[in-house]
Amino acid sequence: MRKVPHRIYLSEEQMPTQWYNLRADMKDLPDPMINPATGKPAIEEDLYPVFCKELARQEMDNTTRYVPIPEEVLEFYRMYRPSPLIRAYNLEKSLDTPAKIYYKFEGNNTSGSHKLNSAVAQAYYAKEQNLKGVTTETGAGQWGTALAEACSFFHLPLTVYMVKCSYEQKPFRKSVIQTFDADIIPSPSNTTQVGRKILEENPDTTGSLGCAISEAVEKAVTTDGYKYVLGSVLNQVLLHQSIIGEESLLAMQMIDEYPDVIVGCAGGGSNLGGLIAPFMRDKLTGKANPRIVAVEPASCPSMTRGKYAYDFCDTGKVTPMARMYTLGCDFIPSANHAGGLRYHGMSPILSKLYHDGYMEAVSAEQTKIFETAVQFAKQETILPAPESAHAIYGAVQEAIKCRESGEAKTILFGLTGTGYFDMVAYQSYMEHTMADYIPSDEELEASFAKLPKIPGIQ
Ligand SMILES: *Cc1c(COP(=O)(O)O)cnc(C)c1O
Repeated sequence: MRKVPHRIYLSEEQMPTQWYNLRADMKDLPDPMINPATGKPAIEEDLYPVFCKELARQEMDNTTRYVPIPEEVLEFYRMYRPSPLIRAYNLEKSLDTPAKIYYKFEGNNTSGSHKLNSAVAQAYYAKEQNLKGVTTETGAGQWGTALAEACSFFHLPLTVYMVKCSYEQKPFRKSVIQTFDADIIPSPSNTTQVGRKILEENPDTTGSLGCAISEAVEKAVTTDGYKYVLGSVLNQVLLHQSIIGEESLLAMQMIDEYPDVIVGCAGGGSNLGGLIAPFMRDKLTGKANPRIVAVEPASCPSMTRGKYAYDFCDTGKVTPMARMYTLGCDFIPSANHAGGLRYHGMSPILSKLYHDGYMEAVSAEQTKIFETAVQFAKQETILPAPESAHAIYGAVQEAIKCRESGEAKTILFGLTGTGYFDMVAYQSYMEHTMADYIPSDEELEASFAKLPKIPGIQ
């Protein structure tokens, strides 16, 4: 009999009841956010126009190590958590590797991704503050779906601006979001001033994430009792996603395992920041020293080719500026199919850790990613999201290194979601029409030249 089962489940009682704030253990903190209006470090109050109070507090809190998860949020988590840790026996066999591969699967809920972990928290705090509603944008659709589920549960009205080309390419995303009572509007739209202006200038535009953000922000600030919410990058989102890592650590302890290498895909950094949180805690406090590897698309390489500089977190330029690895907030990556990884910047927490040498980053082209995704689907019978397939790719590369060196390392990666709404992407891979686009140094330099100028800082 095998010692370790395929699926390692924690019981409901074992589910962590606190989020872990990685910043409390960082000796060198990320640089402070800067208020673009004053050029001075932002204070909590500067965030109030954008975020609800408790989330603004969490955003700025560098010292509280553990944050109790509100009972209402725990009650929601219990509907789909703890999520399973899975031993990829078949993948290991197919790779002929001595490595032991584990993955934490976050696709076990209707939204199909880890994004629900933070959506629930954000909807809860917004409801607690008696907001009348929230607005957001969605590119690929996972965040919009997750937030719609969460807002529906807490009876909080939600308006989602979805990039028009995605809205047309993924009609079922729209249906799911509508099932949960959210308003979904293809962007650009005539419901906002900025949308009307863009449509006037370019009636046939298929939209962009930047435009959808600008519409969502305008709608929030011009509607009484509304706020705008974001699904990645921010410190508060990494805090909420720490549940992924804390559960992984507990499940591995149950089977007497500890990862030598941890691999995650990186868009804005929320799933990776959440997955690595307790392992980074061990690294920062000297208890253990696992390697940590971020995998990003070659078409949007913020860590591997970006600049460590102050930039806006959103293309709409309404949030304070943060120092992070960035391609420039006006950089528009090519139409890579991993929509959730098409983000110009990287979480300031992860950026700082990467800058200080606590983690590594690699990038890969999307045809290689889909080759791995198809291989994984056949071995493990889960059709991965294109974003998640970046993490699989990184883990497979590590397992191949083990085959070559003969080392039986333990590898943990984050499988952030399922790809059932991404069949257009899979189809394009099968039909060999998928292209790999890598930005040139000139394109990146042109974008870096537009980074905000802050007197005395950059
Ligand atoms: C959004 C998304 C990602 C990337 O976002 P992060 O904030 O970097 O985690 C990865 N996987 C899936 C399935 C997503 O929906």
